[in-house]
Amino acid sequence: MPPQLTRIALLGPPGAGKGTQAKRIVERLGLVHLSSGDILRDEVAKATDLGRTANTYMERGELVPDGLIIDMIRGRIEAAEAGFLLDGFPRTVDQAEALGAITPLEVVVNIGLTRDEVVRRLTARRVCEGCGKIYNLLYDPPADASICPSCSGRLLQRDDDKADVIENRYDVYERSTAPLIDYYRERGLLRDVDGSRSSDAITADILAILNG
Ligand code: AMP
Repeated sequence: MPPQLTRIALLGPPGAGKGTQAKRIVERLGLVHLSSGDILRDEVAKATDLGRTANTYMERGELVPDGLIIDMIRGRIEAAEAGFLLDGFPRTVDQAEALGAITPLEVVVNIGLTRDEVVRRLTARRVCEGCGKIYNLLYDPPADASICPSCSGRLLQRDDDKADVIENRYDVYERSTAPLIDYYRERGLLRDVDGSRSSDAITADILAILNG
């Protein structure tokens, strides 16, 4: 059996299910989950210098400048000796080039989803402020839309999941991140997954890709 892949990135528009899939995959495969969005939200919550600067971009749905992101993630990638699953990074060709200089990826899984579906899903997304679990009111509505069934924490809507910010995030995705699809395809690393199906079906596809 070919060895399991351990240097992996998930690509796809906001709302494609990268975070949900990443959590499941790292649990199964024992990799480190590196979500640039989660790391940034943590910096914002702690009101660090990086968090304060990053938030001025995040609340508009713009990308945080490449230099800040690369400095933030480099050490975490280098420390993930058993392997990592990147979620939300790289998001620009410059970030991909910087990543290549740190360590080469083995595979990039592209979870595809249309703009209409992105908007529909993200407006219904809720995140537990206690345990970080992600719910979608369309697909897995909790009995009470404001309480997490796992830990009883409050379920909140991310500020950048409001309708006008979502549209901008998709524009930013098309302009800055979608070019990475061809970038990685040309390098023979890209594998496509249809993000419009159930999350279980998507997980099965990703595991099949990663297990060769
Ligand atoms: P996400 O949770 O991945 O949707 O990220 C939320 C926000 O954090 C994005 O809209 C950006 O403002 C910022 N962000 C996350 N990852 C990156 C990245 N790799 N490069 C630039 N900005 C990022």
